[in-house]
Parts: sequence; C-alpha cells; structure tokens
Amino acid sequence: MGTHYPTEVEIAIIGGSAILAAFCIWRARQREFCDWSPSAPFHWEKKRAAMADLTANDVMVITDFDATITSGDSEQCHDLVGASQLLSAEFRKEFAPLLDWTTNAQIDGVPWWNEAHNLMLKYGMPPRPIIPRLVREAKMVPRPGALELLKSLELHDVPVLIVSAGITDVIEEFLRQHGALSENVTICSNRLNYDADSAPKSVSPEPPITSFTKEYAYSSASAFFAKHKDRKGIIQLGDSLTDVDPAKKVPYTNLISIGFLNARPDGRKHGDAFDAVVLGNQGSVQPVADLVEDIVSSKVGVSAAFKRALSMTGGFRRSTSSGSLM
Ligand SMILES: [Mg+2]
Repeated sequence: MGTHYPTEVEIAIIGGSAILAAFCIWRARQREFCDWSPSAPFHWEKKRAAMADLTANDVMVITDFDATITSGDSEQCHDLVGASQLLSAEFRKEFAPLLDWTTNAQIDGVPWWNEAHNLMLKYGMPPRPIIPRLVREAKMVPRPGALELLKSLELHDVPVLIVSAGITDVIEEFLRQHGALSENVTICSNRLNYDADSAPKSVSPEPPITSFTKEYAYSSASAFFAKHKDRKGIIQLGDSLTDVDPAKKVPYTNLISIGFLNARPDGRKHGDAFDAVVLGNQGSVQPVADLVEDIVSSKVGVSAAFKRALSMTGGFRRSTSSGSLM
C-alpha cells in the first residue's frame, strides 16, 4: 500500500478545523474574562471620560438592591420573608401563591405589593427579633465586588441611595451583617413599622415602592436629594429595566448607568436601557469600581495643591484627560 499524501481538500479541512478550534478557545477566554460590555463603545467611553472628570464631591450613586447589590441568584427580600421556614406555616401557605409566578398572573403590578404587605400585617410577620436570623440563614449573598465598592464609596463620602421595591428592614440587616450600613447610605424602600411590638403594624410609604413606581424616588427620598442637590453626577445601577427610573426626575449634568443582566438570555433591552451591561448572576461590579476609582482619584485637594505649587513657581495652566489638574 503506497503512502497517502493529503489532498488539497483534506489540507483545507484540517486547516479550517484548526482555525475553528482556535476561535472557540479565544471565544471561551473572552467569555471568561470579559463579563461585561458597553452598550455602545464610543458612547460609553465618552460618558465615562466625562464622569471621570468629576471629583468625589460631585457624584452620587443610585442603586437597586435585589440582584444588583446581591448576586443574581440570591433570594430577594419578599421571597426571603414569604418562604422562610422560620415563619408560621399558615402565613407561608397564604403567601406561597404570590411567589409562584406561573399561577399568580392575576396579581401583578402594584397590587402584588399591597397583597404581600397585607398578609405580613395580618399574620404579624416577620416578628422583629427574628429578622437578623432570617437574613443570616437566607441564600442572600453580595455580588462579587459589591462590598468593596460600598466600602470605597463610604471612604470617599460618596452618597448612595438604594431604591428598592424590597423591604428596608431586610436591606438594613443585610448591610449591617456585612459591615456596609454606613452613614453615606440611604435606603428608599418599604419599611415595616413595629412600634413597641414585635409584630409589624404598618408598612410605609403608602403607596409602596414597587418595581413599577421607582420614578417617585425623587419625591420619596426628597431629603436625600435636597441634601445632595449640588452633586450633578449620577452613577446608576440596577438589574431590572425599571431601575433606570429613579433618576428620571432628578436634575443632573452627567449620568452613567450599568445594568446587571444576571441569567436573562436576551440582553438587547438592557443594552438599550443601560450604558453598559454586566453578564451573569455572579457578574462583578468591577466596571463600576474602576469608574469610581477614576473619580475619587481626581481629588480637588490634590489639584489645588498642584495649582498652588505651580503658581509659586510662576506656573502655567494646563488640563489633562482626568481634568483635575489645571
Ligand atoms: Mg433588582
């Protein structure tokens, strides 16, 4: 039997397979390392550069809580209360249909929150003393990098407004347990009012903060916005399309938004709504942390010191891409 020399067709097939394999490996690595992308690269870079020109004194963060500060597959505030084995069986039985999204189509929109809160008041759930354990034992974990981001914002005294359709008491407890309930954080969500009792007596505000009514944050959190009215740069974070609503009525000069797609299969709507989209339930807040780092490193104090030093040496005016030195 003679030696077989590969034909041109076979060489082409082998070569094509090698290129395809290399492409697949490259794609896999891209997926592994690039878990976020700008919705429109030029637009993103322009906005990001404009934000980086600001200082820590010019910006505020407005963020959603569930599946944004927490990972995409974490239990969310109402699920955590409605499904907890720590609470009474009667309450859970009546609450269960609200957590079954396949059968509760008749209760949608704002009425869902009213129904959920009415059941909590009817059964006196959750008792106040149980909330720390409720949160500790729930599958509710921070998104990768979220605690570090909150720490950085605290250190640089950047105000953070959490606008959530969840439950204030749960959010506060979660942040407390992770050492992130700092003075720069304000929570605009649904608070259980306990008076001197261990059972909640009412829920405020009325009407509740829901996924469908987040644009009312400007009036619901009016004290926050009045206090920080000179901050005209907004960094906005959220995982739902309606998480861009809280800033709708806020006067601002610069706004940049980062959306968390979590496990949703189609990111097109998020690409339209947010300036950049982070992929995956465990998608890191790194793009946000990088932006914040750029902002907090453009310190007015350092800039002023430079200006003084330059003027003492008969200096000159100049501006850099970070905009802080002039
Ligand atoms: Mg959310």
